[in-house]
Amino acid sequence: MSIWTLVDGDTMTTIRTTCQGCGDVELSTHDIALELTGTGDAGSYRFSCPSCSSVQIRPATRRVVGILLATGVNYEITLAASLITESEIEGFVADLDDDDWFSRLVASEG
Ligand SMILES: [Zn+2]
Repeated sequence: MSIWTLVDGDTMTTIRTTCQGCGDVELSTHDIALELTGTGDAGSYRFSCPSCSSVQIRPATRRVVGILLATGVNYEITLAASLITESEIEGFVADLDDDDWFSRLVASEG
């Protein structure tokens, strides 16, 4: 997934992701809204590009959801699970190989 975070000192988390028009952009936690479906660990996140102001909505795998929640972004839970498309599900499956560390983290929390 094209999302990762940088922590600057103790106070600020920068989330770097990709705008379809502008390429790499940097956001703060306040710029992102995470939506969870309530039926699983995956969801989507929404942000306004700081360069072109277009609203971008991206699927969030369990891994990305975990990263975003850890940075303290706002989130909401919806029950619109039926809106997930087949291609998004395929994307989730393709990303499962990256989930080992997060699964271990969850497991360790008992
Ligand atoms: Zn943009």
